[in-house]
Amino acid sequence: VILVNRNRVPAPPVLAAQNARAAQERARAATFFSVPKAQRKGTFTFRIYKDESVKAALEALFLGKCAYCESRYTATQPLDVEHWRPKSDVKLAAWETCTDFTGYYWLASEWDNLLASCIDCNRRRKQIDAFTGGMTASGKATAFPIRDATQRAGAPGELATEQPLLLNPCVEDPSDHLQPHPDDESLLVAKRGSDRGTASIEVYGLNRAGLVLARREQLFRVRHHLYQLTKLLELAPRTRGRRLYLVEELIARELAVLAAMRRTSEPYSLMNRTVIDGYLRETLGITP
Ligand SMILES: [Zn+2]
Repeated sequence: VILVNRNRVPAPPVLAAQNARAAQERARAATFFSVPKAQRKGTFTFRIYKDESVKAALEALFLGKCAYCESRYTATQPLDVEHWRPKSDVKLAAWETCTDFTGYYWLASEWDNLLASCIDCNRRRKQIDAFTGGMTASGKATAFPIRDATQRAGAPGELATEQPLLLNPCVEDPSDHLQPHPDDESLLVAKRGSDRGTASIEVYGLNRAGLVLARREQLFRVRHHLYQLTKLLELAPRTRGRRLYLVEELIARELAVLAAMRRTSEPYSLMNRTVIDGYLRETLGITP
């Protein structure tokens, strides 16, 4: 998870308040969900959020990466248009009292509530957890845990008092809550015991085995370039003439590769940044 500036991409016109289709769907949803759950007939199908223009805008905003795990999903799968606050159902905690609550329907086609997600972060299934080695169910689905269960926002206008536990990469900097494990940076851990970091790792499945393997492969590349840079920096003071020119060129090249790996557009950039910045600062005395 990496901070993404939502203002980079404007909201697609199909989601605008003035758009007739969107306005009609919002009005129909408000009517449908105003009826108590037990008395509703059938289910409500939301369509606007799935519009191709919304998918294209989310792909542009999140650079073809999953907003949660930072994997490049474009290689093998379409994006899931993800509702950060679930639109028509919420998995409530056992101690929650508002048992009739069935989701944040009024946010179903709100641009700020939509994220690009890969299938494994969005859909719940059993996965091997690389941290514990055990099988555990992960994937967000309808989960939206909050800190104080009595503060669940049941209607528009009540969102301000609700304290979500899941991180939203467009709202807060995930690096304040998550960090690579100091002994194995391919694993993610909560920073300073952050409950929001812990909840996000569990719900999004950020230590599922397949994802950790992909991060490990990336970590290997990062470490390779840091090693090359270190050796070249050692070599430079002992080199003269045309060879020095070559060594300096290779140093510049390694620095350029590492700078590229730090970019938000790169998969697993949170891990890349932490590893690269830490090594440059502590081992090489370079300010990233
Ligand atoms: Zn993902």
